[in-house]
Order: sequence, then C-alpha cells, then structure tokens
Amino acid sequence: MQLLEASDGVGGRVRTDLLDGFRLDRGFQILLTAYPELTRWFDIDVLQLRRFQAGATIWTGSAFTTIGDPLRSPRDLPSTVLSNVGSLADKLRLLRLIASVRRGSVPEIMRRADMSTHQKIEQLGFSQRFVKRFLQPLFSGIQLDPNLEVSSRRFEVIFRMLAVGDSAVPAMGMGVLSELMANGLPDGVVQCGRHVVELDGTTALLADGERVDARIIVVATHGPNAAELLKLPDPGSRPVSAIWFDATREPLHGKKIFLDGAESGPMKNLAVMTDVAPEYAPVGRTLCVAAIPGPAALAPSLESDVRKQLERWHPGSAKWETIRVDVIPHGQPLQLPPFDPRRTVRAGDNRYVCGDHRDTASTQGALFSGRRAAAAVLADLQSPHTN
Ligand SMILES: Cc1cc2nc3c(=O)[nH]c(=O)nc-3n(C[C@H](O)[C@H](O)[C@H](O)COP(=O)(O)OP(=O)(O)OC[C@H]3O[C@@H](n4cnc5c(N)ncnc54)[C@H](O)[C@@H]3O)c2cc1C
Repeated sequence: MQLLEASDGVGGRVRTDLLDGFRLDRGFQILLTAYPELTRWFDIDVLQLRRFQAGATIWTGSAFTTIGDPLRSPRDLPSTVLSNVGSLADKLRLLRLIASVRRGSVPEIMRRADMSTHQKIEQLGFSQRFVKRFLQPLFSGIQLDPNLEVSSRRFEVIFRMLAVGDSAVPAMGMGVLSELMANGLPDGVVQCGRHVVELDGTTALLADGERVDARIIVVATHGPNAAELLKLPDPGSRPVSAIWFDATREPLHGKKIFLDGAESGPMKNLAVMTDVAPEYAPVGRTLCVAAIPGPAALAPSLESDVRKQLERWHPGSAKWETIRVDVIPHGQPLQLPPFDPRRTVRAGDNRYVCGDHRDTASTQGALFSGRRAAAAVLADLQSPHTN
C-alpha cells in the first residue's frame, strides 16, 4: 500500500503548525464531539479535548450580548431570556428546533425535504433580527456560507451535532487527528511530496514524471482535485480565511464563540483560543482567531478590513498583532440542495473516491467517506462481479 501525498505532510485541511510556540490550525476549525466517526477512530482521552462553552457572545453594533443553551446550562437561562438577540418567540422557536433535531436520527434528518438553509430558517419563522444577529453569523462560519444557501439537511444535521455534543479542539491542535491516523500506518506507506497529476487506469502519473502502478486506486483529495483526476463534475468551492492574532492586551475573554451580529465587517466569528485551549500559545500569551467565510475571504483588503472591524468592536483598547493569515480558496464543497449525503465512492474499474465531497463537508464526512470507500474496496475484492 502506498499513500501518495502532494504536500509536505499529512492532514490536508486538518493540519496544525507550531510557530513561535503558537499552535495554528490551517484555518479556524472545531471538532464536534457528537460526530459518530470520532469515537470510532480515536481514543477521546488521547485527544485531550478542550471544550468551547455552548452558545455565543454576540456583537450587536454597540455592545456584546450573550446567548446560551439553557437546556444544557441552566445558568445561561437569565442572560439568554434577557438577550436582545431576538424576541422571546425566537428563543422558543430555537428551543423547538433543538428539540426537533435531537428527536430525529441523522439518516431521518437526511431524508427530510431539502431546501436552502435560508428557506428552512424562514419556514421555521425566525425574525430577521434573530437571523442577522445569531443564525447567519453562526452558520455562515460553520458552513462557510454567508448567503445561507447550503442544503437544509446539512444545516439540521450540524444543528443536531451542536445540540447533542460539544464544540472542541484537541489540546495539541486539530492536526493531531491526522497525525494519529498516519501514525497507525506501517512505515513507508505515507510518501509526501508525491503529486499525482494524472490517472491512467490504475496507474498514477506523478509531477516528476514517475509512474506508479497499482491494483486499486483510491482518490482521497478534495473535490476539485478528485474531479480533475477522475473526470467527475466539480463540486464547487467555498473559500474561507483565518487571521491569527497575538492579542497582547486582549479585550475579549471567554470560552464562547464571538459572533458578528451587526454585519460590521467580513469577520463572522472570532475565538479566544487560549481561553478554550491554553496549550495553543506560550504561557501568558493570548491567541485569537478571526474567521472570514465566503468571497470576502479572498479580498486583497482582508486584513485591514478585519482590523477596522475589531476596532469597531473595541475602539483603541487592544493590540492585535497578526501572526498569520490563512487564505483557503477551497474550504468546503458547495453542497447546495438537493443534497445527496451518500454519493457513490466507486469511480470505475478498480478506482474509488473519498473525501468530504462524498458526504457532509466536515471531518465527520471525510472520515465516513473513507470508511465507505474502504468497505467498497473490500466488498469488490471479495465479489468482483458487483463492481
Ligand atoms: C478553514 C476551514 C474550517 C473548517 N471548519 C470545519 C469545522 O469546524 N468542522 C468540520 O467538521 N469541518 C470543517 N472544515 C472542513 C473539513 O476540514 C474538511 O471537510 C475535511 O478536512 C476534508 O478532508 P478530506 O480528507 O476530504 O480532504 P483534504 O483535507 O483536502 O485532504 C486531501 C489531501 O489530498 C492531497 N492531494 C490533493 N491533490 C493531490 C494530488 N493530485 N496528489 C497527491 N495528493 C493530493 C492534499 O494535499 C491533502 O493532503 C473546515 C475546513 C476549512 C478549510
């Protein structure tokens, strides 16, 4: 078995770099502990998960307000009821939505009528204010989707994961997931710096001209790369950027995610990583990350726009030193409705395909599609006629 990896390390979109003692994931990412594949593949204790608090702290244009999940944290009830993020009716609708997604199983939710996230939110009757202040910044960050056009099936499944589990990061960074998986492979299997430019049957042609013959090929790249190698339709791309700050005199604190509920700039959310996972920075330093999903992620003025936005949030009180700007043209595939959550992993004779473009665009989807591809390979080896 050979794993040909184009870049200098394993993990793709799930990697962590150590820079002057700061742990920087490749973009701001979180792990939802309710992902079914998580416990299947990892010993949770080894990951040393550091958890965010449920809910959010929201910038409303003139002040911050907090919304929590009173079902899990009764302490959050007063601030959630009093928050001016939406009306009491909105908060009751939110509780109804949480109950509805908790009731359904994931396969049942994936069979529900599909529409855009925006249409679904409208159907549920939320007010414009609640959408603008809470749902839009939260889901544009998670789905990399400022227009809320992603399939409502994905929206409801993510909502379920948020409602039944926690949002977390491993203490050593998201990249530890990829490293643990690679460490489980025999020596010599993973070969970095090996860029496949073309497939001819089950022969891979590499950028340096070498040809690698195989009995079976599994293409485990992101959607656009897989489309090119296997001549499949391109699943489209949702860009995203992240700006990592050393916030020396940080004005913001807390284990809740900060959301921009006032459309005050391209940043939709911000996390004070070191309040959640102190291991992400040297002792005494504060690491914050701003997430910018959608076309704004690619704007040349990105960093200065985000700085202006932070200045609006906290005029003059903080020092934000940029550590790194990650610009990721392909953050996730588009996944518009109608959304098929289980696209085939077979791609012709002895050729298979996996990745987040086959299932939901998430670490869960990537892991699940990998398992489905492996099962298909084994099944076809045992009964070749079914291929
Ligand atoms: C900034 C950001 C935030 C995200 N946030 C979340 C989140 O909070 N929660 C969540 O669940 N998901 C999140 N996601 C999505 C999640 O990271 C992806 O869905 C998942 O990592 C996809 O994994 P994959 O293995 O399918 O593809 P990839 O991670 O893209 O891996 C593909 C690999 O193939 C290699 N490759 C590509 N082409 C070739 C070639 N021709 N030859 C050889 N090797 C090649 C690449 O170098 C790469 O290592 C986020 C993504 C981004 C970018």
